[in-house]
Amino acid sequence: MAEAEAPADCRLCPRLVAYRLQNRAKEPDWFNGAAPSFGDEEARLLVVGLAPGRGGANRTGRPFTGDYAGVLLYETLLKAGFARGVYDARPDDGLELTDCMITNAVRCAPPGNKPEPSEEAACRPFLAARIAALPLLKAIVTLGDVSRRNVLKALGLKASAAPAGHGTEVDLGPYRLFGSYHCSRLNTNTGRLTAEMFEAVFGRVRGYLDG
Ligand code: URA
Repeated sequence: MAEAEAPADCRLCPRLVAYRLQNRAKEPDWFNGAAPSFGDEEARLLVVGLAPGRGGANRTGRPFTGDYAGVLLYETLLKAGFARGVYDARPDDGLELTDCMITNAVRCAPPGNKPEPSEEAACRPFLAARIAALPLLKAIVTLGDVSRRNVLKALGLKASAAPAGHGTEVDLGPYRLFGSYHCSRLNTNTGRLTAEMFEAVFGRVRGYLDG
């Protein structure tokens, strides 16, 4: 099985490598690499995002850190007791995840936040290995449909094994999959996803893990 983390200079996807080099030329002080997962190796909860935002994880090197989506995600994890400290949008803000890890279905920033199906496929072995390497894992929250499809495929299941949408819950072998809309700026600004809807998902996860 692949390693759970892609090397920062992963070269599997030519288009993403080209984008990285372009970003590096413009912003040499940014991370500009495959962003590693962040959190607790003993986590019972894995949160799976889409891919690093250009000015977020691609800049800071920590998933969801420094972009719009991260504010709602980290604040919600703090409220649900899956993080401690203060989220300050910097990888050295001291925030710790407890019983939780965050990863992305695709580890490198894609142009326009849209990975190609071939890039999702190339990165999927890392996701499968990430899931397999968490010995206590019981719950997976998928953020958006790319995340849902890739988690299902990484588990060797069909895309129909869990429905699309928000607030879904399905038991898949040893894991319960909780489906959520992605906490993107678009979804929150349009009201498709409210903070209450997002918090409700993590409240359900909390109840499942501790109930
Ligand atoms: N930042 C990430 O790391 N992942 C996402 O899915 C969105 C923003």
